[in-house]
Amino acid sequence: MSDSGADGEGALRDDDTLDAIRSALIEWYETDHREYPWRQTDDPYAILVSEIMSQQTQLDRVVAAWDDFLEEWPTVEALADAARGDVVSFWSDHSLGYNNRAKYLHEAATQVVDEYDGQFPETPDELQELMGVGPYTANAVASFAFNNGDAVVDTNVKRVLYRAFGVPDDDAAFETAAADLMPAGRSRVWNNAIMELGGVACEKTPTCDTAGCPWREWCHAYESGDFTAPDVPTQPSFEGSRRQMRGRVIRTLGEYDELTLDELGPRVRVDYGGETGEAWLRELLADLRDDGLVEIDADSEPTVVRLQS
Ligand code: SF4
Repeated sequence: MSDSGADGEGALRDDDTLDAIRSALIEWYETDHREYPWRQTDDPYAILVSEIMSQQTQLDRVVAAWDDFLEEWPTVEALADAARGDVVSFWSDHSLGYNNRAKYLHEAATQVVDEYDGQFPETPDELQELMGVGPYTANAVASFAFNNGDAVVDTNVKRVLYRAFGVPDDDAAFETAAADLMPAGRSRVWNNAIMELGGVACEKTPTCDTAGCPWREWCHAYESGDFTAPDVPTQPSFEGSRRQMRGRVIRTLGEYDELTLDELGPRVRVDYGGETGEAWLRELLADLRDDGLVEIDADSEPTVVRLQS
């Protein structure tokens, strides 16, 4: 991490910590992630089509449209040869949003064929020369097709960086922190992984434990219980059954020798406090103690809790 990087308290400037943070995320992503067909290819044309389609359409709905599109026009040459009206009709028939995107995509295919001899350019800067391809899309294609991109910074990534490392809500700070965090030469897996984290774990209402977030041990929000973010201005609502909460207490205590109530509470529920604060936690712990699962040491100051030995 650079001095302007992700962590104001300096923890991440330690290279070993940074390596551990990177490895944990990549391992988490590689162990299990949502399978989208464009994640199985490094064909820049197929990836560009997926990126343009997903600008306005939910990923799950893009899958069928993407399959159909590539069946109709399997290569950049085939798309360049197509009649523009056919591409636009395809777009509206599949409810893919603004028809201009279909026109631009067709135009970009023509550019690749005419100006680049059918070979996509490989850098974000050159890819941005293509019609309708902005900085985000150019970087996504450079990363996923050529493993040659910069660190992606989108709304999901900002939310993750803000919560996990206390990066201030400032575009330049997000850019710097994201770039510092990305391991050199690994944009393909890294950008996929951090976007996946924002998409399935660090969502507006985070599911830190159930999604097995690999950054819990370093995450400021997980530590403090404050899960607000630039796009989540107030503490997110949080649903959880009593059974889930009991499970969380046991899992959390399994990771530590003992915890105070103030340390345990925010790790159990993101909205710890108020009606679901200390009194609520004490009642839950009393149940678990009665079931022989935890020990509550009320003689210590403050009270600490541990798993029943
Ligand atoms: S621990 Fe929770 S808040 Fe922190 S990065 Fe992971 S999912 Fe987000």
